[in-house]
Amino acid sequence: MSVAQRAAREEALARAAAVVEECRRCAIGSTRRNPAYGEGDACAALMLVGEGPGETEDRLGRPFVGRAGELLDRMLAAIDLPREDVYICNTVKCRPTLNEEGKLRNRAPDPLEMANCRPYLDEQIEIIRPHVILALGAPAARSFFGPKFSITRQRGQWFAGPHDIPTIATFHPAYILRQTGGELTAVKRLVWDDLKAVRARLDALRTAPLPEPERYQGSLFE
Ligand code: URA
Repeated sequence: MSVAQRAAREEALARAAAVVEECRRCAIGSTRRNPAYGEGDACAALMLVGEGPGETEDRLGRPFVGRAGELLDRMLAAIDLPREDVYICNTVKCRPTLNEEGKLRNRAPDPLEMANCRPYLDEQIEIIRPHVILALGAPAARSFFGPKFSITRQRGQWFAGPHDIPTIATFHPAYILRQTGGELTAVKRLVWDDLKAVRARLDALRTAPLPEPERYQGSLFE
């Protein structure tokens, strides 16, 4: 990748982020403090896609910088990937909230919010053209593979994602943080397997390419 190509991608991402800054397609565009558009290497081989910004992300305008983000950084470090070397974003760029007696709480993005924000995610994928996508949690995986995707049964498997990019899902770091005892040990082991699969595919980019992943058999419109 030449310096000029990198600069062109960085400029394209900055322009797209400025559009998101002005976006009011959903009500959460008006309740959020800052959009967390995405951050990282514009030429990253690996893109991570989470669900949506939480309280800390909303305050700082950056994805995965709260407790889940700290765990994500440790997960990446475990496979020798500094955070700066990947690109991190979410299915929605604004924090979805519930107003409970004047206090804003996080909630999952609803289907309309995900659909409204999808062009921004697609644009990020088109600009960066990652070689591998890691979907963090069921909502991100379902945004690529449809509502029947089961994170418990289908995590850790490679499927052809957007633009046929090899895509794999694992448990969301926030889900891992909620586990305790034996469940925590079991979930960590599965996530470690998934991370090793990502590492192996990234390594194979530099050596012998791995077979293309299968097309996901479900449908986005189930
Ligand atoms: N959870 C997400 O899905 N994304 C973030 O950016 C932070 C927490």
